[in-house]
Amino acid sequence: MHKGIGVSPGVVVGVAYRVESVLGSGEPQTLDNAARIPEEVARFDRAVEDTTAELETFVQRIALELGTPAADIFKSHLQIVNDPELTARVHAGIEKQRLTAFSALQVVMNAYAAQFARIDQEYFRERITDVRDVMTRIGSHLTRKPGAADNGNGSVDSHPGDEPVILVAHEILPSQAMNLGDLPIAAIVTEIGGSTSHAAILARSRGIPAVSGVENIMNDVVAGDLMVVDGREGHVIVRPDREATAAYRKVQREFFNFKDSLIANRDLPAVSCDGTQVELLANINNLADANAADTVGATGVGLFRTEYLFLTHHDVPGEEEQYEYYRQIVLNSPNKTATIRTLDLGGDKTVPYLGRRNEPNPFMGWRSIRIFFDNPKLLVTQIRAILRAGRHGKVSMLFPMITTVEELRRLNTMVKEAKNNLKREGVPFADDVKTGVMVEVPAAAVCIDALLRETDFISIGSNDLIQYLVAADRDNPKVAHLCEPLSPSIFRVIHMVLEACQRTGTPVTVCGEMAGQARSALVLFGMGLRRFSMSPAFIPQVKALISSVTTAQAERFAHHVLQLSTNEEIRTYLSERLREVSSVLEAIDFA
Ligand code: PEP
Ligand code: MG
Repeated sequence: MHKGIGVSPGVVVGVAYRVESVLGSGEPQTLDNAARIPEEVARFDRAVEDTTAELETFVQRIALELGTPAADIFKSHLQIVNDPELTARVHAGIEKQRLTAFSALQVVMNAYAAQFARIDQEYFRERITDVRDVMTRIGSHLTRKPGAADNGNGSVDSHPGDEPVILVAHEILPSQAMNLGDLPIAAIVTEIGGSTSHAAILARSRGIPAVSGVENIMNDVVAGDLMVVDGREGHVIVRPDREATAAYRKVQREFFNFKDSLIANRDLPAVSCDGTQVELLANINNLADANAADTVGATGVGLFRTEYLFLTHHDVPGEEEQYEYYRQIVLNSPNKTATIRTLDLGGDKTVPYLGRRNEPNPFMGWRSIRIFFDNPKLLVTQIRAILRAGRHGKVSMLFPMITTVEELRRLNTMVKEAKNNLKREGVPFADDVKTGVMVEVPAAAVCIDALLRETDFISIGSNDLIQYLVAADRDNPKVAHLCEPLSPSIFRVIHMVLEACQRTGTPVTVCGEMAGQARSALVLFGMGLRRFSMSPAFIPQVKALISSVTTAQAERFAHHVLQLSTNEEIRTYLSERLREVSSVLEAIDFA
């Protein structure tokens, strides 16, 4: 059994599918016999052809779903895969050094990586990500088991047998993460990445069980191995015995049956036993998520992360394009209600066109709103597009990573100026778009009173608030034990912010992942939170949870939790309470 971090709940028994890393450091493999050279060259050429075909299909699909600029990124991948120099270098590796096609590809990839690292201009240096993405696609064609077909996005179109497919990778690249939802992947296991990395968030939003931080799993798994993934406990079993397989298959059936049964509560209101109503909103990353939010019965979108629009572009999307995309998001959001967050890049999400400095601590550095203050035009464009999209529903604008009141003032002024300019230009927009502050830097929590005087609403981003509060990178498995919502410090800080909002009558939402986790949601409800925003997949169970408690009961739990001193005490106490409230929900809660 391997132990990692459960980043998306659920249990799956399935067969392993490896996504090979082409940036490997292992010893290159040579062919045992020179007679195999022509066959190996042909195998590489076939992998290039297959990659080309799949990219062409992929470009068409992305163009339909996300528009032409997003598709352009993958068009450039077509140029890379068909680059004659790439083919010549890999052929030379096979023919002259007698390398296997995969090793020759690795050697060329490592040489490209070194070459790109020497490039001065940031934009061109960053193109290595695209090269790596393409090489990974070719690599996965080369390592595929005969009979299996893969579309190169870390997904499998068909595979031997009827077992679900478990993706095993060192890491999931952004383009692979974008495709998780549409493909028949049953679970994901990675060696790196934490519970709030973008890949984990996307897996959760699609309800795919996932475990990350599983060291050396790639050394233990071969394609086609039977595996068990327990995304709640963070356990991975490779080649389980008969008893374990049978036991986990049973849990898998129960888990998915229960989740399916919960969807039945879609049209019921989210109310506690004694009639306290809460709003359950969805965190979304793209249009597909907006529709998923509607399917599970969210009453609106509490957080639309606009990064994913920018991550799929070659350069900054213009105002018209942003407006059109936000308009679609609003129209497809439940009750046409959406909180659109301004761009939150930096940290784990970077785009080449904004430039990335080599920062020792990217999460503490040039991130989010801080990037915008150095590129105010970008922000003005986004603010205008959001204000314009506001005409199509009930739209709010949310600013991430606010640290000081000065920042908020500057943003409020920019919004005011954008409105004046739109008015002067005669461009229609919604004047009543509310603006809000994300509380995710401890400084903002500490000075919440001052911020509340100058904002319409608050959204607590607990993912970041936790990592900054405990000084532990949210993506680093080594410090994952500190990045834990069930802790005295995080509950105290959130309690303080909620009280300040209640005092001033300011609407407040929690939109970090803890809002969707039963144990922490119970405490948040008891502290008086009435607006929860979470991955759509969690909405049915939080609705079931709220409808299983009374307000007074939850208040008692919250009051008690605030008296406890350690994570362990809190976890034990809440697990017991949750079991009393609903043993089934306790069984599927994670974190
Ligand atoms: C958060 O930090 O809690 C949050 C919701 O934002 P993100 O996960 O996108 O950083
Ligand atoms: Mg955040």
